[in-house]
Amino acid sequence: MVRGEIMYNPKSKIAEEFISHNEILETLKFADENKNNKELVDEILAKAKLGKGLTHREASVLLACDDKEKTEEIFKLAEQIKKDYYGNRIVLFAPLYLSNYCVNGCVYCPYHKKNTHIPRKKLTQEEIKREVIALQDMGHKRLAIEAGEDPVNNPIEYILESIKTIYSIKHKNGAIRRVNVNIAATTVENYRKLHEAGIGTYILFQETYNKESYEQLHPTGPKHNYAYHTEAMDRAMQGGIDDVGLGVLFGLESYRYEFAGLLMHAEHLEAVYGVGPHTISVPRIKKADDIDPTAFDNGIDDDIFAKIIACIRIAVPYTGMIISTRESEKCRERVLHLGISQISGGSKTSVGGYFQPMPEKDDSAQFDVSDRRPLDEVIRWLMQIGYLPSFCTACYGSGRTGERFMDICKGQQIHNFCHPNAIMTLKEYLQDYASEETKKVGEELIAKEIETLDTVKQQVIENLEKIQNGERDFKF
Ligand code: SF4
Repeated sequence: MVRGEIMYNPKSKIAEEFISHNEILETLKFADENKNNKELVDEILAKAKLGKGLTHREASVLLACDDKEKTEEIFKLAEQIKKDYYGNRIVLFAPLYLSNYCVNGCVYCPYHKKNTHIPRKKLTQEEIKREVIALQDMGHKRLAIEAGEDPVNNPIEYILESIKTIYSIKHKNGAIRRVNVNIAATTVENYRKLHEAGIGTYILFQETYNKESYEQLHPTGPKHNYAYHTEAMDRAMQGGIDDVGLGVLFGLESYRYEFAGLLMHAEHLEAVYGVGPHTISVPRIKKADDIDPTAFDNGIDDDIFAKIIACIRIAVPYTGMIISTRESEKCRERVLHLGISQISGGSKTSVGGYFQPMPEKDDSAQFDVSDRRPLDEVIRWLMQIGYLPSFCTACYGSGRTGERFMDICKGQQIHNFCHPNAIMTLKEYLQDYASEETKKVGEELIAKEIETLDTVKQQVIENLEKIQNGERDFKF
């Protein structure tokens, strides 16, 4: 069978069937033919307003539609859906790079094997402790660990030991309560081990859904295998991990192709496991060591980027959407309104960068950081632009993962848990880590937010008092 003839089947567990190249081409054609079809666009928008999501075809029509008024409508709707599902909360996290040893040849990443001048480093358990203490001292409670693919230097045992170390460190009032993991595609058995180690979300970026481009961009190493990479989330689910995070690296392929592929991947997870992606990340290719983003001709500007984010929010309303410090403050502010619900803050993208900050221009980083503000500043900024920063990890601790989480989220019940939890974790942050200026802004915000609570209001007031007096880790 030739490639273009493969049937789209979201229920199949074969990569080329649930991400059908042919279906994506048909979708792009359909979107082009209908992007100015006002009747259809309105119909899709009316469906989107119900907040139950859209198919990849419907969402692709919205993405292709270049009518200014309709685009404004899409942005407004995305903002509303974000409020309905997530309120004004923004969850904070930090990446922790464990090792930059890598045997792959990804042409867009400076950690590729052929880069011989980049300093290679793998943290020892002692060094991980120092990094985690530095992160706890900033106020972080949620980490995403990152490591290159290298069976000799970064075997699964190393990752598991590192997770154990991270969870074991209790420095002053600090604790890392959720470790998300972003490591290479692996076996069901290894996913099971990660699950047993108590990880939060397993995150793996597809990079590109276009098989032909994928193979060219990953010329060497185990990552070259498109099917193995694309079917990783299926193996993760089989290994018991029910929170998985998708993402593509925008700039490698045509953004409309990636958008359709991403939504098809979400449809596949829903169809087979009844649980869509816990998160979707939207990284754009950035400069780093020997990587020049202009060498890739599918770069997208800020307007397209904003539209992609808004359309993902509308199409997959329940998913958490993540943006990192790759993006500037200005860009982050814009897309927070359009659907982003999680951001990193105070990030270092090099191995060992928290304990021993690297120079501004860091050649060993995986990508250049645009938003270099310390976490305290990011928290203050979020509050000043109308958001409630949250360090909550309660769902994970209370077993509200996978299908249970999705049921609560789809029923738009998340406010009853997340909102009070956000208030209480913000209070912890203010008590333990914030500058005086941030504390002032935060206390005013908490006083305002308490008034929005109903049944749990009294309980929250009591807990805030207890936090003020030194107790920690309250949750609903
Ligand atoms: S993207 Fe990941 S797998 Fe590829 S070279 Fe970089 S670290 Fe290695």
